[in-house]
Amino acid sequence: MGLTPQEALDLFHSDDLIGIGMAANEVRRKKTDPRVATYQIDRNINYTNVCTEYCSFCAFYRPLGSKEGYVLPLETIHEKIEEMIALGGTGVLLQGGLHPDLKIEFYENMLRSIRERFPQVHLHCFSAPEVLCIAEASSLSVRDTILRLRDAGLQSIPGAGAEILDDEVRARISRLKCRSEEWEAVHREAHALGMRTTATMMFGCGEEYRHRVNHLERLRRIQQDSGGFTAFIPWLFAPENTPLGKKVPEATAFDYLKTLAISRLYLDNIDHIQSSWLTPGIKICQVGLQFGADDVGSTLIEENVVHAAGVRNRTNEEELRRIISQAGYTPAQRDTLYRSYILK
Ligand code: SF4
Repeated sequence: MGLTPQEALDLFHSDDLIGIGMAANEVRRKKTDPRVATYQIDRNINYTNVCTEYCSFCAFYRPLGSKEGYVLPLETIHEKIEEMIALGGTGVLLQGGLHPDLKIEFYENMLRSIRERFPQVHLHCFSAPEVLCIAEASSLSVRDTILRLRDAGLQSIPGAGAEILDDEVRARISRLKCRSEEWEAVHREAHALGMRTTATMMFGCGEEYRHRVNHLERLRRIQQDSGGFTAFIPWLFAPENTPLGKKVPEATAFDYLKTLAISRLYLDNIDHIQSSWLTPGIKICQVGLQFGADDVGSTLIEENVVHAAGVRNRTNEEELRRIISQAGYTPAQRDTLYRSYILK
């Protein structure tokens, strides 16, 4: 039996960071191989930066009609994938803004062209808000949208666009973006079709602890019903260059590690918890391996969204292996769905 919402709230208000971390690590050791910590080599490809949602935490998007707006040609996408394969990569995360003029045929064509050229590459693409945008632009149901994308090569859906799954917060930071129910509906539909997805949480955007608990509770309920989430990835809001960043204080390492550990305790039905290096930095990511995380995410060969918000952290396979080893674990490269491990 996992934590109750009140118990989670009490932990958020507690200063016992080490005690919470030790409890989370105990759960992690039982759920996954206690000797191994994993990473992935993949690449984010932002096929467009055009977006109609104007989220206040985002420095990446450009409005429709902007001179700086782009849609990547297929050849460019293929070249990026070739570079990723040369670096030992196994997966691609295609993600855009929400471009109102791109219909399902555009996405089918993009996926098929990749699938034909690179059949070995796992396609983990399009956030729930993008799926909803494609459905609306193409006058399709969410189910038919996912089915058509799957037929074209889509294999799993990332948890992006969740931010905080509480509509009080969403109304403040991403007023035009989908509501919590809609994010949930896309993931439930994908799970019902046998497709795996991940769950994320972007925190430190001025929300209260109760909002984080509501978020975790929603994820736990979905997972109870479907079992479709492979992993949970909490990450910190990157405030620079964003309208929201001027209004909220930057979250601390203490808050990051405590939230990571509480996530491990609360989401007792999700197998994997990821410690992030992109916004907290590589050293905090490493410490996260003692606070309930069993994975340090991906090398993210290309990352543009958080980069636009002033974050300059970069890493590579060698560094991820080093931080894992020095934290006392055997590093293993995994695939997108955590099915296979390669011990090198
Ligand atoms: S976070 Fe995503 S949906 Fe929001 S403005 Fe940026 S690109 Fe658009």
